[in-house]
Formats: sequence, structure tokens, C-alpha cells
Amino acid sequence: MNQVSRQELGHWLDTTLQAQRFKDYCPNGLQVEGKDRITHIIAGVTASEALVRAAIAKKADAILVHHGWFWKNEDPCIRGPKRIRLSLTLRHELNLWAYHLPLDAHPVLGNNAQLARVLGFEPDRDENGNPITCGSDGLVWLGRATRADTLGELGDEICNTLQRTPLIVGNAQQPVDRVAWCTGGAQSLIEAASAAGAQTYITGEASEQTFHWAQETGMGFIAAGHHATERYGVQALGAAVAAQFGIQVEFIDLNNPI
Ligand SMILES: [Zn+2]
Repeated sequence: MNQVSRQELGHWLDTTLQAQRFKDYCPNGLQVEGKDRITHIIAGVTASEALVRAAIAKKADAILVHHGWFWKNEDPCIRGPKRIRLSLTLRHELNLWAYHLPLDAHPVLGNNAQLARVLGFEPDRDENGNPITCGSDGLVWLGRATRADTLGELGDEICNTLQRTPLIVGNAQQPVDRVAWCTGGAQSLIEAASAAGAQTYITGEASEQTFHWAQETGMGFIAAGHHATERYGVQALGAAVAAQFGIQVEFIDLNNPI
């Protein structure tokens, strides 16, 4: 069975995702240190207790996620669900790697790139082939929806592909030519998407005011699910790890309706 050292894998992940480039709300990289040698990784969207328990049941050596732990402004005390997650992880010597914004933004493996792939969005690119983006940290991607002409058709495409009914604001008949998208809880970036000339904005979640902004600007808006839009980056990253080191990486999709 192939194996890789914690140090080598961590270095490859940090370098591939350019983890140091981002000012984030959580530490990116190795959040909890476990075993020295890694042969089997469990990948998932969020390092929940259920994912930790699944990794233990599968006798994995590491967990790789988009949503890790130790978020800015959270209570740093180790109590309740945090104690259980952390004590299980330490007791079983699991490594925990988490990449938040670096995994949203990566031009190939990232959540935005991968959501475009699964939904058939053709990203706008500059002369070097890099995606043309807007919003804070360049997190909102711009492009063209190739599988839908109207907002209603795009909603159907998203529903079928992501297997979750999206929340749609706008007229089903309105055209969707220029689209903007950002996975996860990026509803506040709708203004940046609108300023960049998009007619439709797709993200994971909605806020109360998102409805009014969309209605008053005539912009189509789709909240397709935070979890549902962020399943694909970590899978692409996991596949890249497996290809690079010949170790086993298994993605576990634990349903989350939000
Ligand atoms: Zn997220």
C-alpha cells in the first residue's frame, strides 16, 4: 500500500492551493496533527462529528475538508460538540487538513471551477487563461451558462445536477446569458456580480435582503445550497492527491439541506 509522510502531503497541499496567499476566517492547512504516515484519507465538505466518526470507522489516517475548525470569532473553549470532535480526532491520531478560501479560489481544483464544470458554465478567461473574477478576493466567477437560456431552465439544470431544489428569485422566462457564481455563503457578493454585468447570480445561500436586491435590480438569483455547491472542490482535490501520491482518498457526502 502506498503511503506519504504528513510533512510531504502537507507541503504539497499548501503549495498547490497557495494557502499562504489568503487572509481567511480560519487557519488553512494542517489544523490537527495526527499520524506521521498516511495511506488512506477521508474527504468531505465539513469536519463534522459524523465525518470524523466515518473516518474512524474506515480506519483512515487523515481527513481533508473545505470547512474545518477554529473559526475567527468563535468561542475558543473546547466544550460540547467541539470537545467530542477534537477528542475523537486526537484519540485516533487523525490528521485534519482544511482549506477554505484557497479551495474556493483554485483555478482548476476549486469549488467555483468545479461548480462551473458540473453545471456547464463557460468561465470568462483572460489572455493567460486565468478566470476573470470580481468581488472580494476575486471569489466571484463570471461566464456563460451553456445549458440554459432562461432562469427557469437554469433552475431545472441545477436541481437535476445538484439533486437539490434551489431557491430562485426572478421570472422563469428571463434570459440568463451572463452568469456570475460563487459557492457557499456568498449572497452578499450579489452587488459585485451585478456591477460586473451579470444578469444572474448563483451562490449557495440567501439572506432576507438578497430577495429585495434581486427584485429591484431585475437580476436573477439562485441559492443552490451551501453544501450542494461546495461538494466538488474537495473531490477534485482528493482525486489530485490520489493521483499524485497513489494513496486512497475516499469522498463521503454527508447530506446537509443548507
Ligand atoms: Zn462554505
